[in-house]
Amino acid sequence: MSIVVMKFGGSSVANPERIRRVARRVGEAQDEGHQVVVIVSAMGDTTDDLIMLSRELSARPSRREMDMLLSTGEQQSIALLAIALHEYGYKAISLTGLQAGYNTDGTYAVSRICNIDSSRVRKELDEGNIVVVAGFQGLSPNGDITTLGRGGSDTSAVAMAIELQADMCEIYTDVDGVYTADPRLVKSALKLNTISYDEMLEMAAMGAGVLHPRSVELAKQYGMTLHVRTSFDHRLGTIVQEVTDMNGELEKEMVVAGVAHDMSVLRATLFNVPDQPGLASTVFGRLAQDKVNVDMIIQGSKTSDDKQNLSFISARTDADKIEQALGEMVAGGLGEKFELDDSIAKVSVVGAGMISRPGVAAKTFEVISSLGINIDMISTSEIKISCIVPEADAAKAVRALHEAFLG
Ligand code: ASP
Ligand code: MG
Repeated sequence: MSIVVMKFGGSSVANPERIRRVARRVGEAQDEGHQVVVIVSAMGDTTDDLIMLSRELSARPSRREMDMLLSTGEQQSIALLAIALHEYGYKAISLTGLQAGYNTDGTYAVSRICNIDSSRVRKELDEGNIVVVAGFQGLSPNGDITTLGRGGSDTSAVAMAIELQADMCEIYTDVDGVYTADPRLVKSALKLNTISYDEMLEMAAMGAGVLHPRSVELAKQYGMTLHVRTSFDHRLGTIVQEVTDMNGELEKEMVVAGVAHDMSVLRATLFNVPDQPGLASTVFGRLAQDKVNVDMIIQGSKTSDDKQNLSFISARTDADKIEQALGEMVAGGLGEKFELDDSIAKVSVVGAGMISRPGVAAKTFEVISSLGINIDMISTSEIKISCIVPEADAAKAVRALHEAFLG
């Protein structure tokens, strides 16, 4: 019997009505003859609400206690979904991440999954149960609950699908697939039928928001096919897999798959740091230790013979950690001062087709400059060109780039 893993995000289980709809959907999959494992997120804004609640008590709550607190969100939704399934006459059982066998590396708030002991899940499936598993959480080596980072239940789902050798991992969400740009920003954005892992990774990392980037990384590594689709009806969504289907036309690849934007970034700058060996290693070593993800580093705008500025892009959610780290560096004589600027955004043109087609970068810059927008930083990979622009201009840039490449 084939196993399907279905993941439902917070908006899909936001209230009893929606939980019932998910239950019917999941039940149908079992009726069709599949063994079904369902991974769920916390209902609606529960995770945000819990964070706000903790902030009323402390500005810097302990990370361990935050994981304890946040993991309760998913625990509510698994029980409620199992209850709804029972009402429809299905055999179902809810399991926490711990009961489902997720073992993590133990880092609070941003744990990685080390392995899954799926024996309990398999046993419950064999007994005819629909198994409803809490996403976003696992067990640390010392026996604590740890969470996987915001949006982490996508990664829980993909990991379980790989462990169970499921045919596919279906990610149900409140949009009907992956678009060539954010449809809220670009009216003419189109839904993609397929997208490669690499393109999806760039889109996800650029804030396309549909999938947790780590879930795509994991799927790519193990060749797990993902299907991103809406939980509101039965339309097909977007398939994320290695080779995209060109409808038989081998060379008719799309040069550009999409235009992504990320409004949740900040630029950090360390001013007048000594230009000497080991500097970058010290700064980024420290940030890595604090688990700060750094993107687009610019080093070398020399301010004098032996001094230079160092800038990098990170997530705004890491502002506290960055402030702490850079503050300590400046106090220790590394650099004169530092600054965080969150009035910027990242706009990216993504497409596997650009490897073999020159000119995408030139066209990107031309489009942005024709709007009179100043590009502050640029980074490129084989399949992506990213520009840092003022946040206030980002939407305009996205629309113009979409029109130029995909209009
Ligand atoms: N509930 C968690 C969050 O809001 C995990 C998830 O939804 O994937 O980030
Ligand atoms: Mg999500």
